[in-house]
Amino acid sequence: MATVKSTKTTGKKAAPAKSSKAKAESAPAKAPSQSKPAHIIDVPKTVEELKVSILRHLHTTQGTDSEKASKKAWWGATASAINEVVFERVTQTQKKQRKTDTRAVHYLSLEYLMGRLLKNNLCSLDLMGVAEQALTELGCDFHEIYDEEPDMALGNGGLGRLAACYIDSLATLNYPAIGYGIHYEHGLFNQSFLGGRQVERPDSWREYGNPWEICRPESVQEIPLYGYVETRYNEQGEIEKEWHPGRIIKGVPWDIPIVGYGESNVNILRLWESRASDFFNWDVFNAGGYLDSHVENVQAETISKVLYPNDTTDAGKELRLIQQYFFTACSIKDIVRRYKRAHGDDWSKFADQVVMQLNDTHPAVAIPEMMRILIDRAGMEWDDAWALCQKVFAYTNHTLLPEALEKWPVHLFERVLPRHLEIIYEINARFLDGIVSKVFADDEHLDAIKSKLSIIEEGDHKMVRMGNLSVIGSFKVNGVAQIHSELVKSDLFPEFYRIWPEKFTNVTNGVTPRRWLKACNPKLSELIDKHIDADWPVHLDKLQGLAKKAKNKTFQNAFMKIKHDNKVELAKTIKELTDVDVDPNAIFDIQIKRLHEYKRQQLNLIHIMALYRRLLQNPDLDVPKRVFIFGAKAAPGYHMAKEIIYAINKVADRINLDERIKDKLKVVLLPNYRVSLAEKMIPAADVSEQISTAGKEASGTGNMKLALNGAVTVGTLDGANIEIAEEVGDDNIVIFGLTVAQVKELKGEGYNPWDYYYANPELKAVLDWFDTDYFTPGKPGELADVKRSMLDYGDEYLCLADYQSYSQAHKRVDELFRDKAKWAEMAIINTAKMGKFNSDRSIEDYVRDIWKLESCQAV
Ligand SMILES: *Cc1c(COP(=O)(O)O)cnc(C)c1O
Repeated sequence: MATVKSTKTTGKKAAPAKSSKAKAESAPAKAPSQSKPAHIIDVPKTVEELKVSILRHLHTTQGTDSEKASKKAWWGATASAINEVVFERVTQTQKKQRKTDTRAVHYLSLEYLMGRLLKNNLCSLDLMGVAEQALTELGCDFHEIYDEEPDMALGNGGLGRLAACYIDSLATLNYPAIGYGIHYEHGLFNQSFLGGRQVERPDSWREYGNPWEICRPESVQEIPLYGYVETRYNEQGEIEKEWHPGRIIKGVPWDIPIVGYGESNVNILRLWESRASDFFNWDVFNAGGYLDSHVENVQAETISKVLYPNDTTDAGKELRLIQQYFFTACSIKDIVRRYKRAHGDDWSKFADQVVMQLNDTHPAVAIPEMMRILIDRAGMEWDDAWALCQKVFAYTNHTLLPEALEKWPVHLFERVLPRHLEIIYEINARFLDGIVSKVFADDEHLDAIKSKLSIIEEGDHKMVRMGNLSVIGSFKVNGVAQIHSELVKSDLFPEFYRIWPEKFTNVTNGVTPRRWLKACNPKLSELIDKHIDADWPVHLDKLQGLAKKAKNKTFQNAFMKIKHDNKVELAKTIKELTDVDVDPNAIFDIQIKRLHEYKRQQLNLIHIMALYRRLLQNPDLDVPKRVFIFGAKAAPGYHMAKEIIYAINKVADRINLDERIKDKLKVVLLPNYRVSLAEKMIPAADVSEQISTAGKEASGTGNMKLALNGAVTVGTLDGANIEIAEEVGDDNIVIFGLTVAQVKELKGEGYNPWDYYYANPELKAVLDWFDTDYFTPGKPGELADVKRSMLDYGDEYLCLADYQSYSQAHKRVDELFRDKAKWAEMAIINTAKMGKFNSDRSIEDYVRDIWKLESCQAV
């Protein structure tokens, strides 16, 4: 095995060498003193080397041999083989970062929707070809080996996937960064359908071990909970507070390597697992009575047991608050420990070295926790501590939906985190009496403004508003797409914006093109490699170079041939998962995202029913064949979302078996939508459904992944769709529906869905269909709730108002698809113009406007 360190090109970012020729040319240029010690294993360069390594791990790590090894064992051995490189890079990266004592970002997120890691790690190390060859020669089908890996689904949807894309980009760009989160034992539930209804089963992603994680017992933290606060005077006669916790929880860190693309750093994602600690609080015991009330307290091991499966709304449950505090407090202790190792008790450099990004309000309790540490532990004065805190935190807002803005009952906060509640009250009082009173001194509504800006919501049930706390405690607040960031300022936090206009900014979301194009769509990637520089995965703007080939017949044919091949592959997956046959020549029209009324899968559904009805009325109707493909999980407690899932499945069953319509229409809802399924669906999409009510989808990232792979968006002017339209141009996207301004106007006038129902006979007929037993034989009315949501319950998301425009948009899609050359051109332009939506650009925006980091390459 070669032990010479592979060399770097001098540029900031080098793509993996493309061919063995390129590698041969970059001769080793390292000083001898820097050559690797003998135990360090270099990137296996040849198929032979990798085979040897995989076989070694099959024997030593998996305890088996090539004759009796299961696919799971082959997968584990392959992962272990590349870990020889990966973990060495972790060590190198950390050593370098420690030596240079660089400023780093600490990304705090309750969710990381990582998906599988093997293929992406191979892709990052430029070993995909080598590994596939090696596995083939070892007698394995590498697709099957990839499919053995369970998804790491420690997140619900967009927010968690964004965190995963961002840590990928941070590693690729060599920024010092660490992701912090929870090491859930069970990630997002597995979904199946029973008679069309969603059934949830627990996800056990690490039941049989996980080769990607390393436990770090040396960095265990202890986290206090419950108990009471003692107030006393010290020798100087000053008030001191001491929190006597009722319980101590142990936080055990697991590190997962985040492999940057090319010759890049390997950062870590540090996930905390909760354990019982041996601590017993004699103080509390002696205080008497306390013990009884603690019997019902959350048990230590349950804290990291399971991910809350709600995409937007929160249950307001004690366990959830404890999860938030647990991982946040562990992370801050970890950050402080690392800082003190370099700077001792001198806090003056802390804000130079540390920035913490709050991914939504979920980790907002970090703000009072930091204050507690500075005041109660480090003995800092309030004003100094607060000034420091306000330099350290930045907050990303992810939603304007009122039900998703986190609030905690004051009485719950007080019981679980009594000291933090005191600190929050103090922050609040100083804020309201200080800057609010000053800025709004002459406002006749000062009291109303104060009660709106207060962290504490008054009323019968007092609440702690985590959004207000996050804005007040952070130096920057960003939305996730231009329009969303404007709405954050104008609608959500207008008074805060008046106080601190410079605090508010935008960072439009992005997705990593390594996972979402290079690794998931190898054929298209290869075609792109042939036409533009092969470093496009780290310079995605270069895709622009494809635009000039958009009208070229040969290129169009090559591009659409790949799309067709990908559709053939997806058709096989559809057959396996649903037993439905679909024609790869049909339009593959895909809506994949969490099931939520604001995302309007029900609008898609009623339009499908209208198409079906048109075909029943005229079976010879000349329309292109369509396959509508859904993927969506509903939160287990979200009744209407589950009804919509059931309705999609029932309508699909009826349509797919109806021979009268001659296969012109098919509908499938693929079970258990998740990252690894997305990777199979997205390369095969012709049409991308991004149809949220304007003003409701903060950004969306599925829209970006689909367009990047050459799908044409049918979308509203919402979230990042607006910026996608700006990039691809109006001719290459199909926009429909009310704008944000029109939505506001319509709602202001008093929206009445019945007006639309009576005005449009097709719409009326389709909605009335839900009352019959046409789709649920013998059981009329089973789908009636879906209709009711759009009529009796007020159609909050304006499906009926947008229906006509949506139907028109799809007629336009049919027309465009008939013109094969035109469609190919649109698809190519979509891929070519997605440069902006790569997460490297988002990260550079964060770095420039918020984090102020410098890159530091160790590998
Ligand atoms: C990208 C992604 C999402 C987010 O999709 P949106 O359409 O932006 O809501 C959700 N789930 C998975 C598995 C994803 O990959």
